[in-house]
Amino acid sequence: MENDVFKAEGFSEASESHLQKLDLPKLALDAAELGTWVVDIDNKVFLPSDYMKSLVGITQGSLSIEILIGMVENKYRQKVQRAFENAIKNRLSILLEFPIASPDADDQKWLRIMGGVTYSQESSCYLSGIVMDITFQKLNDLRKEKFVVMVSHELKTPLTVLKGYVQLLHSWARQQKDTFTMGALSKMETQVRKMVSMINGFLNLSGAEAGKILLNKQDFSMDSLIRETIGDALLVSDSHKVEFEECPEVMVFADRDKIGQVVGNLLGNAVKYSNKDSTIKISCNKSDREVQVIIKDEGMGISQENIKKIFDPHFRVESKETENISGFGIGLYLSSEIVKSHGGSIKVESEPGKGSTFTFSIPVNNSSI
Ligand code: ADP
Repeated sequence: MENDVFKAEGFSEASESHLQKLDLPKLALDAAELGTWVVDIDNKVFLPSDYMKSLVGITQGSLSIEILIGMVENKYRQKVQRAFENAIKNRLSILLEFPIASPDADDQKWLRIMGGVTYSQESSCYLSGIVMDITFQKLNDLRKEKFVVMVSHELKTPLTVLKGYVQLLHSWARQQKDTFTMGALSKMETQVRKMVSMINGFLNLSGAEAGKILLNKQDFSMDSLIRETIGDALLVSDSHKVEFEECPEVMVFADRDKIGQVVGNLLGNAVKYSNKDSTIKISCNKSDREVQVIIKDEGMGISQENIKKIFDPHFRVESKETENISGFGIGLYLSSEIVKSHGGSIKVESEPGKGSTFTFSIPVNNSSI
């Protein structure tokens, strides 16, 4: 038995022993391969451990916060700088993951920095924490992500063909006035649509995480896009009353499919997170420069604490009410990335038990102006 060694030798808590003379924190940090750092906020000094320096490739010389930020890969540099500035200025904790710039892309090193604020007895303020090498974990995540994108691409083609044939058969059944086949085919079409929208979500996710959502802009009427999306949603489920307050005629210049996904995600969530037979209201406002779309439900609502995290990737509210509702926690993250990539904004107002109102705005940007 594996436990026998513990029984035979007997491990007990040490009282007076030589162990207490050892530098235990250092032993533990070395064994766990963790570097440490501390910022003395009042005296503006930064002290990294030798292991932290070796992690960023400095064997001789000093490492300041500026040097550290300068080493971060271009795309992440501003984010790291802002996080340090924010933590120091507002005395907040910090959690960052970023790659160190390297001339060789295959030799990229990823670091995670975690820390928080403490006060000494003389009430000096320190921001201190640990740093660790997470390259292996990150590369694994990237590999998994690539796999998901590859599989999604592969699934898209046969699904498109399947969808085409289902539509063809549907119109044939309509001609034959075969109501049973028509009903069965429209259910099939609904499921295929669901799969296509999930796959599009996965494909967009990888683009969003790499910081690039490719937009294919065109002029379209927001009003008809919303009407179409409501029609699609009602095909999937007619459990709710959806009231659409006619929008003023608004032509926008944007990526129609992606804005359709945003409306679809918000509407889908309004259905998912509210009771059967409740009402969902959709309306629009238009100003000279932008169009605003508002989706209001009478559902379970969201607490202020969770509202702060609601647009983060993979975030899902964990509660008794949500435990049986399936999802990946990417719909709102993607929606906010899509809206932001159009130069717009998205927000939610909500109260637990009283429903939620999601509002997004995008610039009209009409190509003909
Ligand atoms: P998913 O619905 O797949 O979990 P989303 O990113 O769309 O992912 O939403 C993230 C979380 O936000 C959901 O898990 C849910 O807890 C909460 N949420 C989203 N929309 C609503 C809503 N209309 N009402 C209440 N909670 C919501």
